Amino acid sequence: MPHRDLPYPRLEIDRQRAEFADAAVEDRFNRHHLPERSAQLKVSLLFCAAFYVAFGATDVATLGPGPLAWTMIALRVAVALVAAGGCLAIMRRPESVRVAVLAACAVEVVGMAVFMVLCWYQPAATAWNVMSQALILMAIYINIPNRFVYAVWIASGSSIVFCAMLLVQGYLKMDDQVALVLLLILGNALGYIGARRFNLAQREEFRSAIQLQQLADRDPLTGCFNRRVLQKGLLDAELARARRYGTALSVILCDIDHFKRINDTHGHAAGDHVLNEFGGLLLAMTRETVDSVVRYGGEEFLIVLPETDLDGAQALAERIRHAFCSIGCAVDLGKFVNATASFGIAAVPALDPDAPDTPAVLVETADAQLYAAKRGGRNCVRGVTVTASRMRSTA
Ligand code: GH3
Ligand code: MG
Ligand code: MG
Repeated sequence: MPHRDLPYPRLEIDRQRAEFADAAVEDRFNRHHLPERSAQLKVSLLFCAAFYVAFGATDVATLGPGPLAWTMIALRVAVALVAAGGCLAIMRRPESVRVAVLAACAVEVVGMAVFMVLCWYQPAATAWNVMSQALILMAIYINIPNRFVYAVWIASGSSIVFCAMLLVQGYLKMDDQVALVLLLILGNALGYIGARRFNLAQREEFRSAIQLQQLADRDPLTGCFNRRVLQKGLLDAELARARRYGTALSVILCDIDHFKRINDTHGHAAGDHVLNEFGGLLLAMTRETVDSVVRYGGEEFLIVLPETDLDGAQALAERIRHAFCSIGCAVDLGKFVNATASFGIAAVPALDPDAPDTPAVLVETADAQLYAAKRGGRNCVRGVTVTASRMRSTA
C-alpha cells in the first residue's frame, strides 16, 4: 500500500527558474515571505520614484529649459505615479502575491520604456545613460523584489532594445559600441547570477525548514503524525473550530488486534511491516489536508475527522476495517500476514451547544469504545456521540 504523500510532496527546486517546481509549494513560499517582500518592494518603488524625478535635473541641464525637457520630466513623473500606484495597490491588497508581482513588473516595464525615450532624445548623454542602464539593471535583478524569470526578461529585453537603439542612432564610435555591449552583457550576467543565487538560497532555507518540520512531526515508520502534533494542539484547534462554526467532529482510535502475537510469531521486523502497511492504509483512505492520522501509541492510531458525524466516521472505520482484514501484509519476500484491527469512535454532532470543550473527553470516549470493540470480539467498530452533558450509545 503506497503512502499518501506528505503535505509538501514535491520540494524540488527548478534551478533554472529559481522557483519550487510545485506551484503549490511556490505559492506557500511566496505567502510566507509576502509581508517582508511587500515592505521591501514599497521602499524600492518609492526610491525609484524619487530618483526618476530627481534625475529630471539632468534633462534640463542637457536639453535646456524648453518643451522637450518638460516632456521628459512629465514622463519621469509618470513613472513616479506608476510606482506610487504600485505602493497603494500593495497597501490595499497586502495579502495578494499577484498584486506585489504586478506592481514590480509595472514599474520596471514603464520605467525602462521611459528610460529608452529619455535616451533617444539625449544622444549626447549616451555614456552616462549606459552607466545608468547598468545601475538600473542591478535594481531590476536585485533590489526590486520580483519573480526571477520576470526580472530576467525585463532586464535582458530592455538591454537589447537599449543596445539596438544606440546602434541605430549611430552616435557612438565602434570601440564605444563594443564597450557598451560588453558592459550591458556584464551587467546582466552579474545581476542574473546574484538574483538567481539569492532566490535559490531563500528557497533552500524554506525547504530545510519544511523538512525539519516534517521530521519533527512525523513518525518515521508509518509517515503518520506523531504525538507531538497532538501536544501542539491539533485536536484542541479542531474542537475549537467545530464549536465555533457548529460543525461535526469525529475521532477514531484504532488498534491492530493481537499485534504482540504477530511480533512473536513472525518477528519484530514483520510487525514493523504490518504497522507500516496499516499506517499507509489510514493515510490513503482519509482526506488529504483535511483529516489527520496520528500514531498514538505502538500499534494504536488516532484519526481526526473534521466535519464528520458519527455515521460518516462509522462508514469510514468500516471501510478501513474491511480493507485491512482483506489485504495480506507483505512481511518478507512472498510471505504475507493477515491482520485485523478494532475501532472506537467518539463523535461531536453538528450544531451541538453541549459540545465538549476539551479534547481529553473525546479521546477517552473513543478509547472506551475501542475497549468495547476489543471485548466484543475484535475486528469490529464501536462508536458514540459525545457531548459534555450526555452520551448516547449508537452501536
Ligand atoms: P490487542 O488485540 O488487545 O490489541 O492485543 P495486542 O497484542 O495488539 O496488544 P498488546 O498491547 O498486548 O501488544 C502490543 C504490542 O505492540 C507490544 C509491543 O511490543 C508491540 N509494538 C509496539 N510498538 C511497536 C513497533 O514500533 N514495532 C513493532 N514491531 N511492535 C511494536
Ligand atoms: Mg493491539
Ligand atoms: Mg495497543
